[in-house]
Order: sequence, then structure tokens, then C-alpha cells
Amino acid sequence: MSETIRSIVSAVRSGARSAVDVTREHLGRIEAREPEIHAFNLVLDDAALERAGEIDATVAAGGDAGPLAGVPIALKDNMCTRGVPTTCSSRILEGWRPPYDATVVERLAAAGAVIIGKTNLDEFAMGSSTENSAFGPTKNPLDPSRVPGGSSGGSAAAVAAGFAAASLGSDTGGSIRQPAALCGVVGVKPTYGAVSRLGLVAFASSLDQIGPFTNDVADAALLLETIAGHDPADSTSIPEPFPALMPSLDRGVVGLRVGRIADLPAGADPDVQNRVDAAFEALAKAGAEIVDVTIPAFTYGLTAYYLIAPAEASSNLARYDGVRFGLRVPAADTNAMYAATRSAGFGAEVRRRIMLGTYALSAGYYDAYYGKALKVRRLMSDDFAAAYSQVDVLLTPASPSVAFPFGTKTADPLAMYLCDTYTIPSNLTGHPAMSVPFGTGADGLPVGVQVLAPALGEPTMFAVAAELERAAGGAR
Ligand code: GLN
Repeated sequence: MSETIRSIVSAVRSGARSAVDVTREHLGRIEAREPEIHAFNLVLDDAALERAGEIDATVAAGGDAGPLAGVPIALKDNMCTRGVPTTCSSRILEGWRPPYDATVVERLAAAGAVIIGKTNLDEFAMGSSTENSAFGPTKNPLDPSRVPGGSSGGSAAAVAAGFAAASLGSDTGGSIRQPAALCGVVGVKPTYGAVSRLGLVAFASSLDQIGPFTNDVADAALLLETIAGHDPADSTSIPEPFPALMPSLDRGVVGLRVGRIADLPAGADPDVQNRVDAAFEALAKAGAEIVDVTIPAFTYGLTAYYLIAPAEASSNLARYDGVRFGLRVPAADTNAMYAATRSAGFGAEVRRRIMLGTYALSAGYYDAYYGKALKVRRLMSDDFAAAYSQVDVLLTPASPSVAFPFGTKTADPLAMYLCDTYTIPSNLTGHPAMSVPFGTGADGLPVGVQVLAPALGEPTMFAVAAELERAAGGAR
């Protein structure tokens, strides 16, 4: 079930297995278990089989079927697919079909991947449990009474359930790393600007990044290498070539300095903290030096994020006006139509964010809230820069807890926001970070250890992640 991308690609390219068979196997698992899990908003079975047939034809003709030949990949449903509904799990986009493909979708297609479906998410990627989807929650395949995390819960669950060999998610405050941790898969948030966001529906533009979910660290490296790199159509895209990652996987950690954040905000459950402690020990045993550092601003990350992200969201979501996209609720005049459409089209959490963001940006409060948050963001960057003058990477929990039961945090937005305590700082700084499964905690559920690195420090981050994976006894 936890088949790697690499094994699929080598079998398909050598002709040992057909891409159609690989796709059928995944569709079979979807058929068997998707009614229970609900990882997808849309399964693209016909299109996937057709695409797989093309890959097989290329192989049969002796052509190059690409570095992801025949690999079934699921896409978070906030990435544009030409002519294919893209909903952001929101009613407001009802009936909308994007006129173009996101750059990541083009790159996957060019590499020979097979897009198998669009995955469920918290509406507009706002949430940490996928309970905010307008289409109902996704269940955690490891324990369906629990959440898969969020907001990319469908993408994490699709990989954990074997519905796709890999998937893409987006991470604005932790939405790749936290669900990866809760579903026991690898999840990477790359450096801001490493992966094009053309065609990613915007939530908070100064924070959003696309990244992979995979069964193991090497797959994540391979997939990230494929989707990263300059896109002239995205003004935030980094012009320099993205560093190679595969060569780092066997580097080991000898001579690397791994930072432990002495003033890390409390809040991780003991079972999670135990695994992080074990990760430090494993890296020390493998030859790394563990160094204590302080990052005083870390603790303010959550507060700053929950002003900056809603502020940007309130601006980005202004475009859903009943005129240009999706849903329109008719009313007596234009203003009434806007109000009726937005009231009917957005769920409670999205409305909350729009109101918070509008307030934080409003005259008289701008300096006190949004302006202040930007200053904290700057302090965060300064504190991380100081830490990275002493260490190569940092290690923290990815999520404060293992997967939690449905409904336990929905009544209290703040409790839900606290899921993001350890993931948010890397979004505020634009640095890369990833979650690697490292054993289990309460109730035998997976724990993710987060590896953080400075901007474009992915090669070192992957070297450490690969070592943790070896120490944990290999991929799941
Ligand atoms: N949980 C965070 C939020 O609700 C992060 C979401 C994300 O990364 N997209 O905003």
C-alpha cells in the first residue's frame, strides 16, 4: 500500500508494469475506502486512465515517459485545473471551472504524473482539521474517528490510505506539515518562492507555499525537485535554480549542528515531546552536534500570524463577489447581491477571518494590529537569523498532539489555532520546514518531528530528515 514513487516510476519506465494497471490499483483502493474516508472532492478516474494510457504508449514507443512516469498524484482542491472544478471546499466557487492549469499541474503533467483527483480541505485552507470543509470532513485513515489534520487533510489522507502515491498541498501556517504529522506521512513546506503559486487560489499571499506529501523522504525530494524552480509568471518565484535534493539523502548528519530551542513555547503533549527528544538522541548518535539556542519571538508567532493571515485573506477573498466566480444569490440591488452571495457562500471560519482581517486593517487599528504584527514578523526573522548563525537546522514537534477526535476543537477557534504553534514561524520567515514520521505516541498514532532550515536550506533539511527516517526504521 505504501508504494514509493520511485518503485512505480522504475516499473513503468522499464515496462514491467503498465501505468494503467498502477492507476487501476489506486482507483480500486479509492473505490473500497473513499466512501468512509472522503479524501476527495473529485476523483478523476476517466481522465487518469486516459493519461495513464498515454504514458504506456510513450513507453511502448521507446520514448521518455518522464521522471514521474505513471505516478498517481492527488491535488489539493485549491490548485487550478483547466476545465475541472476547483472548489477550495467552498460553496462560493460552486460551478467555477478554471480556464488554466496551475504551474505545478503543468510541471506534473510534463513529468508524466497521472492526476487522480482533487482533495478535500478546510474551506479556503483555513483550519487545522478539515472540519471546515463545506463538503464535510475527511477521516484519518489510521483511525477514522479522528481528524486527518488540516487544512490539506484530504491530501494527507489520500497518501496515507494509498489512494495516491503522493499529493500536493499548500502551507500558509502549517497546512502541509500538521496533516502529514497526523496521518504519518512526510510533508514539506519549501522556501517561500521555491515553488510557483500561479494557479494556487490565494489565502495569504505573503505566506502561501505549495509542497509535497509522500510516503518517504526520498519521494518528497524527487517530487519537490520536479515542481520547484523559477516561474516568470509568479512574481514571488525565486529566479535562481532550486538546489538538487537527491544527493543529500545519503549525506548523514556528521558535523551538522542541530538546534534545540530552549524557549520553545510549551504545549506539546508529553507523548509528542518524548518522540522529539528521541529524535535529538538519534541525531546525536548519528554524529550531529546538539546545540541549545533561543528564539524569543517564536512564542509571538501565533498572534502575529492570526493578524497577518486574516488581513491578507480579507483582501484576497474580496474577489468572490457573485460576479466573477461561482455562486451568485440574486437580490434587489448590487450591494444586496454581494451580501447575500457572500453570506451564503462562505462558511463560519472564513467569515470570521474576513472580519478579523478587515478589522486589523481598518483606519485607527492598522498600526495597533496589522502594523504591530509586521514588526513581530521582522523580530522573528532576526531571531531565526541569530539562531542559524549557530546551527544548521532546528528540530521541534510538527503538531502539539497526535490526531484528535472529531469535534474536540470546533467550538473553540483558539484551541484550533494552537495546532499551528510550531509550524507558523517558518511561514512568517519564509523558511523551509518539513514533518517526518518518527514513531508513535498516544493510542499508537503517528508523531511527526519537524525539521526547520534557513532559506534554501532544503538540502541540509533533507539530509537530516533522511537520517531521522533511517533511525525510525525506514519509511512506514
Ligand atoms: N491552520 C492554519 C490556519 O487556519 C494554517 C492554514 C494553512 O496553512 N493553510 O490558518
